[in-house]
Amino acid sequence: MLTKKGDILMSDQATLPVGGGFLWEETGAREVMAPEHFTAEQKEMAAAGRDFSEKEILSRVKDIEAKKPGLVPELLKKAGELGLLMVDIPEEFGGLGLGKTTSMLLAEQFSPLGSFSVSLGAHTGIGTMPIVYFGTDAQKADYLPDLATGKRLAAYALTEASSGSDALAAKTKAVLTPDGKHWILNGTKQFITNASFADVFTVFAKVDGEKFTAFLVDRTIPGLTIGPEEHKMGIRGSSTCALTFEDMKIPADRVLGEIGKGHKIAFNILNIGRIKLGVGTIGGCKYALELAARYAKERQQFGKPIAAFGLVSIKLAEMAIISFVGETMGYRTTGMIDDRLQPAKNDVDKVKAIEEFSVEASIIKVFGSEALDYCADEAVQIHGGYGFIEEYNPERLLRDSRINRIFEGTNEINRLIIPGTILKRAMKGEIPLLEHSMAIREKLASGNIPKPAGGELSIERQVSEFCKWIALYVLSVAAETYHVKVAEEQEVLGDIADMIGKVYALDSVVQRVSHILAGTDAKKKTIARDILTAFAPVAYGFIVHTGRHILMDICDTASLGGHLKALDKLRTDWPSKVIEAKRRIALAVLEADGYPL
Ligand SMILES: Cc1cc2nc3c(=O)[nH]c(=O)nc-3n(C[C@H](O)[C@H](O)[C@H](O)COP(=O)(O)OP(=O)(O)OC[C@H]3O[C@@H](n4cnc5c(N)ncnc54)[C@H](O)[C@@H]3O)c2cc1C
Repeated sequence: MLTKKGDILMSDQATLPVGGGFLWEETGAREVMAPEHFTAEQKEMAAAGRDFSEKEILSRVKDIEAKKPGLVPELLKKAGELGLLMVDIPEEFGGLGLGKTTSMLLAEQFSPLGSFSVSLGAHTGIGTMPIVYFGTDAQKADYLPDLATGKRLAAYALTEASSGSDALAAKTKAVLTPDGKHWILNGTKQFITNASFADVFTVFAKVDGEKFTAFLVDRTIPGLTIGPEEHKMGIRGSSTCALTFEDMKIPADRVLGEIGKGHKIAFNILNIGRIKLGVGTIGGCKYALELAARYAKERQQFGKPIAAFGLVSIKLAEMAIISFVGETMGYRTTGMIDDRLQPAKNDVDKVKAIEEFSVEASIIKVFGSEALDYCADEAVQIHGGYGFIEEYNPERLLRDSRINRIFEGTNEINRLIIPGTILKRAMKGEIPLLEHSMAIREKLASGNIPKPAGGELSIERQVSEFCKWIALYVLSVAAETYHVKVAEEQEVLGDIADMIGKVYALDSVVQRVSHILAGTDAKKKTIARDILTAFAPVAYGFIVHTGRHILMDICDTASLGGHLKALDKLRTDWPSKVIEAKRRIALAVLEADGYPL
């Protein structure tokens, strides 16, 4: 619920970050998590993950990709023995009980090989987290210690042949036996990661064909058939099979959470998966950049390394900028979740802490998956013909990248979630969105536009504020135009989602760069400043253009002129010198042989 503070409506828990708060809170209003704040413990965990990834995984790419029998589960178990699977599991159940930032930082280290990264993520994320947050103490005690060490491996079975995005339309059915001791499970799940070796599956089925419910299903129970491996475009080393349950007898106490409340588990666990994917894909972007930078330095054409050509070096700069923007949004999000997880007293509070940031989770999932497609594609391009050849890593990276836009909710579904959730929460009075939108419209009508405050980053701060104003303005006009039918206007919502995503990106980057500039690392300061210099005009330009385009689509002649005139008051032009900034970023990339920060 909202309370009034001065003339601003705030959430009750004003001291804790609020999901979607970046849309109305002033840029820099609160300290945000960023790699500069990683603790020694977090860095140690990342180093352990990187070491494992380099020594155990990258040295076995060919065997993993060829699905050498038993190799991936063996490597997962090895990772478990080294403590790399237990970050999110509470200490009392054999884990480390560390926060989401550590968990995602560790996940990022496995990103150079998509197959293994997906297998590990499916185990530690969507496989294990349902039990961590929704299991009874007995279920936790039974499964979590083994999942923490890799003694048992996990998978998550939601999708069916006829229900993917529309997951709640599942047909798999569970019926209680007359003696109440077992559930009889029948149905088929499709595309299940880790299916060929997982010991335990979180399976979603409808009790009596109606109540959507999660069950913990052990592989050893008779009645389960694992289908053949799918032949995939990418992540070929990961296991993806169908599961068929035929009169499988599941002990009655294997219901996870409440009967009929399976959707709470499915959607909240997907939020965690989205964050993991969002951060992991940014790790992939950095890997693509590393491959591209090394090659661009070595490859000579016209008597020079190709890195010396502007149209090659600008790609390196773009990849570095994308990586910076992605990691900035990703760790800001994990930091906010950790802030809310800390005071959480029980699993219900913990789930709420994660659910609070479902908008940010969808933003970073969409951003990361598209960023990796871009970076992998540019890594191929920089490698020229060699990029197209299997022997070189960019070819695999590009194939592996493609799935990220499809699973953990397709990017279309995630785009719909972004404005959909914001509007829903605003209607319920949980966030002060409509109040802020109206205040902005009044200020624009009266010409009450703030001037740049002066000082370093003054323009970027102001532009970041204006981007919020434009996004809120357009969102409110869309809500006013379509009322309850706004959900049917997917094309408009998709564009609004992209505007909101860019607002989050710019707001996060301005805050992080401002923090870096207050530090003492001169080299880092120059690179970070250049990244903001290059990114701010692009983000601002996108939001202005998309906002105008949406208004031109949805408004009638009578209102359009007034709306555009209002937004024109936010027009800002400044000498940004983006090309020079990108040239310096590219040089820093070449010097670092990859991501320079
Ligand atoms: C390699 C791989 C691993 C996977 N691992 C797992 C796993 O471990 N566990 C699991 O449960 N599932 C898993 N999946 C399944 C995956 O999550 C689904 O494929 C995904 O959710 C999309 O569902 P679908 O394939 O049925 O596509 P559909 O839902 O049929 O979508 C097809 C297209 O229509 C669009 N679309 C659908 N509905 C809408 C809408 N309302 N509005 C706008 N556009 C819409 C989609 O965005 C998409 O572009 C995996 C899939 C693959 C390929």
